[in-house]
Amino acid sequence: MSERTGRVETAAESADSAAIAFESLPSFWSLLARGLTRRCPWCGDRKAYFSGWFRREKTCQFCRHGWRRGDHAFELGATTANIILTFLTILVALLVAVIVTWPDVPTTGLIVIIGGLAIAGPALWYPVSFTLWQSVDLFMRRPDADELAGRGDADL
Ligand SMILES: [Zn+2]
Repeated sequence: MSERTGRVETAAESADSAAIAFESLPSFWSLLARGLTRRCPWCGDRKAYFSGWFRREKTCQFCRHGWRRGDHAFELGATTANIILTFLTILVALLVAVIVTWPDVPTTGLIVIIGGLAIAGPALWYPVSFTLWQSVDLFMRRPDADELAGRGDADL
């Protein structure tokens, strides 16, 4: 068993299509940290499901676990995570700008900056929204023995 990932070597690992087996997943906070840093929640690999900023693969490039996990509406959760992350970014930027410039808040400049964040935020958070939602999904829908063993349904 690997110290870093907690994964278990299996015979199935040698097959190209099979995913790496795990004994268990890390704690919720570790899953969340991996998701927020755009790493695969399963194995912690930095490339995770992405071969580019917007280009998703069906499975993690290292452990080969699928991000969809048999859920047709996985993207809906990722989109919700993206919206929440973008709104939080806007809220924090707004609070910091108002606190720093109080009482002479530059309204026009603030509208331009916040508008820019509203437009760029979804693109900036795109990959993180998938890994973050995967973390939450793994915590809410714990993988069964088959999925842990790498026999899950990667891409429906
Ligand atoms: Zn992985």
